[in-house]
Amino acid sequence: MKAESKEDILLAFKQSQLLGKPLFILGGGSNILLLEDLDALVLKISILGIDKISEDDQQVILKVGAGVVWHDLVLYSLDQNLSGLENLSLIPGTVGAAPMQNIGAYGVEIKSAFEHLEAIEISTGTTRIFQEKDCRFGYRDSIFKNELKGKYIITHVAFRLNKDHQPNISYGDIQSTLQKMGAIRPSPLNISKAVVQIRQQKLPDPKELGNAGSFFKNPTISLERYNQLKEKHSEIPGYPIAGDRVKIPAAWLIDTLGWKGKRMGPVGVHEKQPLVLVNYGGSNGSDILELGRKIQEQVCTEFNIRLEREVNVIGREQLIQL
Ligand SMILES: Cc1cc2nc3c(=O)[nH]c(=O)nc-3n(C[C@H](O)[C@H](O)[C@H](O)COP(=O)(O)OP(=O)(O)OC[C@H]3O[C@@H](n4cnc5c(N)ncnc54)[C@H](O)[C@@H]3O)c2cc1C
Repeated sequence: MKAESKEDILLAFKQSQLLGKPLFILGGGSNILLLEDLDALVLKISILGIDKISEDDQQVILKVGAGVVWHDLVLYSLDQNLSGLENLSLIPGTVGAAPMQNIGAYGVEIKSAFEHLEAIEISTGTTRIFQEKDCRFGYRDSIFKNELKGKYIITHVAFRLNKDHQPNISYGDIQSTLQKMGAIRPSPLNISKAVVQIRQQKLPDPKELGNAGSFFKNPTISLERYNQLKEKHSEIPGYPIAGDRVKIPAAWLIDTLGWKGKRMGPVGVHEKQPLVLVNYGGSNGSDILELGRKIQEQVCTEFNIRLEREVNVIGREQLIQL
């Protein structure tokens, strides 16, 4: 069932009760791993619209329907000469799902452009406004993946975008790609084009090769533990973060164990990006989950680091009972 408005969502709650079927909330489906066929009412969030709700000399606030395709919003903001979302170009999925895991790429997370969001509480049908602090955004994380998991449906997200541009190009290959493009003082549009180019070269298109993006999060460990690991693995990369912790690229751990490009029947680890597990056809979610488990086990044995999944694994238990 498609929900094009808040009223449609409330109708879906009634329908779910009437049919005696649990509910599953679907955005673009780009960050879920289905374990089985589910006997559920699937509610595809299709609320559209991008509206300017306020503006001053420096900033504009846009209120966006949860069903808007994320990259369409990025393109719209660039067309309006607004900056803030350019580094997040081409992330698959919808605007409504973006706060779920505080989507991020190339040194930026939506947290930095987030103003507030509106969501319907499933148990009561009432609308609640969540300010940034209420969302408890973290690295690929928010309150909606934790305490409030399965309790709210996000209907709109408001973003605070800038009329001035402060480029953030220090991350990954952005700078070198911009240089090759001849963009000396890069505009938000230049940055977006560079990000799109890099992503298209590195990541498989889910329309062509089934995948859900990064399967694991980058783990963080204590500085002490990192220094111990360095004694055995001198090349292990680490990026210091707050609280004397170090973030380790999960891709490096997986690659070092020789998983890049490896296949296990119909599933495998992508040949260019070891964080991405792919379905070459004819497999199901359980095969991917099993491959993920094998990788987790080996990483744990070799590095004593537990990889946490980023993807949302969906089975019967994850459905919402009304
Ligand atoms: C090739 C590829 C590259 C990717 N790159 C990145 C990246 O760089 N950075 C990044 O952060 N992510 C990345 N991802 C992951 C994915 O793009 C994001 O997680 C995205 O936000 C998922 O959006 P979606 O609409 O497809 O959500 P879905 O997969 O449909 O849903 C994800 C979860 O959110 C819930 N949900 C969806 N919409 C709503 C709503 N309106 N209200 C409440 N709950 C909802 C669903 O029930 C589900 O649990 C990538 C994925 C792929 C396939």
